[in-house]
Formats: sequence, structure tokens, C-alpha cells
Amino acid sequence: MSQKSAFSASTYEMRISKVRVSMQEAGIDALVVSPSSDLVYLCGYDAPVLERPTLLIVDEDSEPLLLVPRLEAARVLEPTTEVVKVLPWSETDDPYEKAASALRGARRIGVGDQMWSAHLIELLRKLPDAEYRKASDAISPVRCRKEPEELELLERAARAADAVASGLSDIVSLGMTEREAAQAISSALLESGCDDVEFVIVASGPNSASPHHEPSDRRISRGDVVVCDFGGPVSGYHSDITRTMVFGNPPEGFDRVYAVVLEAQRSGVEAASSGTAAATVDRAARAVIEKAGYGDRFIHRTGHGIGLDIHEAPYIAENAVDVLEEGMCFSIEPGIYLEGVWGIRIEDIVVAGKNEGIRLNRSSRDVIYA
Ligand code: ZN
Ligand code: ZN
Ligand code: ZN
Repeated sequence: MSQKSAFSASTYEMRISKVRVSMQEAGIDALVVSPSSDLVYLCGYDAPVLERPTLLIVDEDSEPLLLVPRLEAARVLEPTTEVVKVLPWSETDDPYEKAASALRGARRIGVGDQMWSAHLIELLRKLPDAEYRKASDAISPVRCRKEPEELELLERAARAADAVASGLSDIVSLGMTEREAAQAISSALLESGCDDVEFVIVASGPNSASPHHEPSDRRISRGDVVVCDFGGPVSGYHSDITRTMVFGNPPEGFDRVYAVVLEAQRSGVEAASSGTAAATVDRAARAVIEKAGYGDRFIHRTGHGIGLDIHEAPYIAENAVDVLEEGMCFSIEPGIYLEGVWGIRIEDIVVAGKNEGIRLNRSSRDVIYA
């Protein structure tokens, strides 16, 4: 997914200075980040995840340092080169020693959450006396508050997902296998403006009761409930939407349960104002489902943050400690799953607003009859 950075050098510089403030609050002296969404976020470099380490080091005040394998140095382009000092290492160098010498003044080191243990263990050997933390302790609080430009990209990604959701009754048809339907949704996502397809779930009949079902060779047949959950990125920023379809006449009790999920989703979105605890938003959605008697059939959290990763902070969950702030962007996706029978989920991406959540997805949330 190597592509031109969507942001200017000044944006990355601003992010790094915000992260430095956040490091102080988290008690972290230096960060070491390997190829990941955090690396893209901090300097715009979308590096290959390989055994040769690429490491970004950010301390309190020195120029950020990017250690890259010499053979990959040519991949590091503007604006990254304006934001970090690129330090290529060659095949006979010890890159971990180079990283360690840049990190030597730091007592508490924040390690990128997605760093391979193979790299971390080498760092631990070089710097056995340091204290290690998760880099997300410092990066997440900054990353989860989206900048206006990031919200614009999330909005464009949501538009593309909406276009596909609105066309589902033409895209997915009776007799297709789940895999064929997923393929058709993938093509539609690309046609609608996504740069890539991140995932497509098509869960038909009893499979619709499995939230993370992997599309199979099962054929969609009359009377099936079909949960479609999909998304793709625009300039690295993701979309994620779920709509539920019915082929032919809905099964017994379906309409009533659908109304409960729809109401739970609305209630979650309405609760999602800045200043509200994420746990309170989860509760708002969950209470509707519990009251209808399906509490034990809503087997996952209400939502997850979204941005450069499909799942990132803040998590909208019963045990979440985060309080929503303006600009935070996340899914609201309650579901009811009757194991072995059928399931329903409705998902939109929402931004925390002053009085309630603002939906980025605007396609109809009604049942899609096909
Ligand atoms: Zn999911
Ligand atoms: Zn989803
Ligand atoms: Zn989701």
C-alpha cells in the first residue's frame, strides 16, 4: 500500500510535538517505533515489515531518527525526509547497537505496539536496565483525536462504503456463495473509490450468528439472513460498515429483533457526545438489547476506534476507561446473535460531536430485502 503521503511535513512535525507532550504525561523518555500505522502516522513512511529493522526513534528534543536498511533508504521520500534524520545501516552494521546508542539517555522507553518480538528482544539485550512501556501509551491519546484532514479522509472512505451498502441488493444475489458475494462487494468497494479492500464478511443463514465469520462456499438461499460487513481505506484511512439483508420472507421473529438492534444502534450514536465516557456509550446501546431480553446474545463490545487501523483506540466497551473527545472517530455496531439460527448487526462510523455522535455513514440502516 505504498503511496504518496496525504499530509505535509508540518502536519507530521505537529504530531510529533503533540506526542512529545503526551510522552511526558505517560512518563516515557523515548519512543522506538517499527513499521506500523504508528510509523505512518508520525512521519508518513509506509515501510515494509521485515526481519531487517526499520526503527524511528523520538526522544524529548533531538531530531527524530529513522534507522533504515541501506537497501530501503531510497524508499524514504519527502515529506518524511524533512521530518526525520534518515540513518541508513548496512549489512555489516549492528542496527540494534545504533538504536541503543540513540536511546542510551532514556530510562523509560516506549516500544511500538506492533514491533516484532524478534526486534524487541535484541533491544532488551542492548539496554537491559531501561524500563519498557507500550508506545501507544503516548501515541494513542494523540492519534485518537482526528485532525480535520484525517476526518475528511475518513468521510471519503465512509462515502465509498455507503455507495456499496446502498447497492447491496444489486451486488449480492440469491444463489451466490458467500465467497462470490464477498468478491462482488470487493469489486464494488474499489469502484466506489477505496484504494484497497481491507476485509469483507458475508455471513449467510446460520453463519450470520458468527460476528467474524469467514466467507465460505455456502450458497445464499431463500429465507436467509445475510450480514455484510466490509470496508476499505482511502489514503490509508479506513471505512467499516455493516448492513443486514434478508432473501425472501424473513424468519420468525426477525423483524422484532431487527427493530431492537436498530434502536440500540441509534441509542449508542445519540449517546456518543464529547465528554461522555466510552463505557456509557456502550451501556446506552447494550441497555436497549438487555431490556428486550437479548443481553446475552450481544457478545461483543459496541464499537472500536478507526483511522489508520480498522481497530484502534478508543474502544466503546463496558470496561473502557476513555472519555470521548471531539474528533474521536469510532464504530457503533451492536448485534444480536442467535447461535445456529441467524444474527443481525448494524454498524456505522461515528465522530463524537458536541451533543451526540455524528454519523459518517449515511446509507439507509433499514433491512435490505432482496
Ligand atoms: Zn469486527
Ligand atoms: Zn465492521
Ligand atoms: Zn467494526
